[in-house]
Amino acid sequence: MTAQTTAERYDLVIDGARRPASEGGRFETVDPATGTAFAEVARGTAADIDLAVAAARRALPDWRGMAPQERGRLLGALADRLRQEQDRLAALETRDNGKPISHARRDVETCARYFEYYAGIADKVHGESIPLTDSYVDYTVREPLGVTAQIIPWNLPTNIFGRSVAPALATGNVAVVKPAEQTPVTAVEIAALASEVGLPNGVLNVVPGFGTEAGARLAAHPDVDGVSFTGSVPTGIEVAQGAVENVTNVHLELGGKSPNVVFPDAEMDSAIASTVTAIFANAGQVCSAGSRLLLHEEISDAFLERLVTAVEALSVGPGVEDHDMGPLVSATQFETVTEYLAVGREEAGEPLVGGDSLEREGYFVEPTIFTGVDSSMRIAQEEIFGPVLAVMEFADEAEALALANDTAFGLVAGVHTTDMGRAHRFARDAEAGQVYINEWFAGGVETPFGGVKQSGFGREKGLAAVDAYTQTKNVCANIDPGSE
Ligand code: NAD
Repeated sequence: MTAQTTAERYDLVIDGARRPASEGGRFETVDPATGTAFAEVARGTAADIDLAVAAARRALPDWRGMAPQERGRLLGALADRLRQEQDRLAALETRDNGKPISHARRDVETCARYFEYYAGIADKVHGESIPLTDSYVDYTVREPLGVTAQIIPWNLPTNIFGRSVAPALATGNVAVVKPAEQTPVTAVEIAALASEVGLPNGVLNVVPGFGTEAGARLAAHPDVDGVSFTGSVPTGIEVAQGAVENVTNVHLELGGKSPNVVFPDAEMDSAIASTVTAIFANAGQVCSAGSRLLLHEEISDAFLERLVTAVEALSVGPGVEDHDMGPLVSATQFETVTEYLAVGREEAGEPLVGGDSLEREGYFVEPTIFTGVDSSMRIAQEEIFGPVLAVMEFADEAEALALANDTAFGLVAGVHTTDMGRAHRFARDAEAGQVYINEWFAGGVETPFGGVKQSGFGREKGLAAVDAYTQTKNVCANIDPGSE
């Protein structure tokens, strides 16, 4: 990475104010299309997390006591503001993360949509009454957890900010966000926009910094009531261990190695387009990427021939030029993926297409497909988090399902078939938190999302996130205490 004097600076946002890190540290954030630092960011540490948690705690009583429709109005105003700032935020996201600018624009829109969706829910979260005998009145109340922490990964920084933070605030929680050190910039900007639309000070705090410094303190903070973590399995385990020390509510959105199954009766144009999107969108850096393609042996050769044509047509280049695929996020991720390309060659031989990095500045690799993959190989089992597809064949439905479930992960499973009986049998038996039928990345902010097995536990998105961010209190009154 070439160091340079950077003009842009991003601070922490605590208690409604931008401020430098307590210990004065800063780190550089890098444009992955060039490998060059473009901004300096305040390096929050444990001391800053303590300040942010204290500010959030102070803000909690008024925020949770505010009329829910008023909370909803403020979040709706933030959604509008995000849409007004879509071009600026998308440009920042593309420079920080590398993704094509049209994807970054979509991510800003999705973030706005999360705030809009949960704004509408703010005044619709209520309990129920439970019939006992005539002598009792029993009802439940849905209460916020309190001070919540959101630890965000680098692959979809703006999108996951909305996904994790909007339901927390809508249900009366306050938030302390730790964005990923690779992509901290949009989180700081969104917090500033939230202040602009009138979110009270301390309700939304953003502390950029490193995982082992700011992140670890936040996960294990004794005054945090709920932790939402999105990231890798090893970090998720550390975060859960930190949280459990304080018996803090935690939920984990972790990685995946999701199977994309194609049967001979699938609508082929759609299955091919969907397969390309599944693994090459965001350069494969998506938790729910379809990184294992399972093809019925009858159609395998013909499908792959057409898939290669589609992949060879993909353009790869800087996100600002809006190619089909941008660079990987960082030098570290570039090294990881290029190592997996070597592992793939050792295990499965020469790739059908791709397999190399691009000879240019920045962290670019080719979209790559390995065939002849056995399910026990590392490229079939480990999350590469890059544009690398492992292809396997199956003979029948039972074998497809066995291969699909032959992984430690369980985030997503997809199937392409026009036989709806088969599709729903697959949906029933797939070990995954969500199943896509005839389209990858199906669903929206309304649809619950999360994993089983090592992909985590707990659900975000949709009404499920309202459950995740609230706890139920039961109130039981004897209204006839003197009677016999
Ligand atoms: P990561 O686990 O390295 O980092 C995620 C976040 O955790 C970052 O903010 C990081 O600073 C922080 N962190 C690191 N160490 C920490 C610690 N000891 N304590 C507390 N926080 C710490 O993950 P990543 O590389 O940024 O993201 C890629 C991973 O995220 C992939 O495995 C991907 O599948 C997963 N992911 C999952 C989802 C989902 O919804 N299930 C969505 C996106 C990404």
